[in-house]
Amino acid sequence: MSEKSLAVVNYSSEKGAVEIREIVKPEIGEDDVLLEVVNVGVCGSDLHQWTADHSWKVNYPVVLGHEFGGYVAEVGSNVKDWKTGDKVVSETAAVINSTNPLSRQGLYNLDPDRKGFGYGVNGAMTKYVKVPERCLHRVPEHLSFEQACLTEPCCVAYNAIVNNSKIKPGDRVIVLGAGTIGILCAAIAKLCGAEVAVTGLQTDVHRLNIAKKYNCEIIIGDATEYAKQRDGLGADCVIDAAGTSITLKIAMDLIRPNGHVTKVGWGPQPINFSLDPLVQKNVTLQGSFSHNWPVWERVIALMASEQLNVQPIIGGVWPVTEWHEAFEKMLKGEVVKSVLKPV
Ligand SMILES: [Zn+2]
Repeated sequence: MSEKSLAVVNYSSEKGAVEIREIVKPEIGEDDVLLEVVNVGVCGSDLHQWTADHSWKVNYPVVLGHEFGGYVAEVGSNVKDWKTGDKVVSETAAVINSTNPLSRQGLYNLDPDRKGFGYGVNGAMTKYVKVPERCLHRVPEHLSFEQACLTEPCCVAYNAIVNNSKIKPGDRVIVLGAGTIGILCAAIAKLCGAEVAVTGLQTDVHRLNIAKKYNCEIIIGDATEYAKQRDGLGADCVIDAAGTSITLKIAMDLIRPNGHVTKVGWGPQPINFSLDPLVQKNVTLQGSFSHNWPVWERVIALMASEQLNVQPIIGGVWPVTEWHEAFEKMLKGEVVKSVLKPV
């Protein structure tokens, strides 16, 4: 009999189709390791799959969870650089086509055939997960798994701010959205030397107060005054980290002529407004998706040196069997980030 573990499984496209199931220990291939999960973060996208308002194709049934770290428990026969007991975090691109032209450039995050943990293949809200060797990164001994498991959302934010935006010291940056990605984008924009405000709704007050811990301004509702405070023209950069499409309208209003809007939050609903301000203001609109190897190495370095500290966003750690409470607290905005641990 193979070993069984409890897992948080998203079993269909119906709303609320998540439950605890028993799964067998995965068998690894020659280029994989078996990772024993220590901590796994709950992502907004896990919530979207739970509430069935996601924009991507899910391979049901699937174990949720793509923000994780743990110890190498077994190594495949071709694996030379990793050994049992190594402390690691894993990237999310579980399956890629390595001959795709984008993968050949190192942009495997943009490979259309990419399949990620937690929707394309089984993720980490369980005890063991099969991980290709190429996804692994070493975690320094002094960095806790509770923090290290959040490398992934930090990489989303780093890629959005550092690689996909143009932020200079002294720039005024407005972040729309007080979720994990919004707050981490704000934290990284601060590291780039910007003046940063995070905006949200009245219901986001708790999460906005956490953004304050990263020395950001917080704004409830309209950010026009902040955007125009200096010379009346608008913010240098707007980062749209709200989980909808419609906030693009707010970004277009707040941005100054020749400014840069980066959209990192997404949602499937169509929009019903004109994009003329983009043209008239000569604005650059940039999407930002996922991350790749160099981003991971850089973010781990920032976390290890404590230039980037994710502790303020962690709202609690729950056993996977209590996933419902952990998910609900995040959905209601009572915590920014819930973290799970296998049982
Ligand atoms: Zn995530």
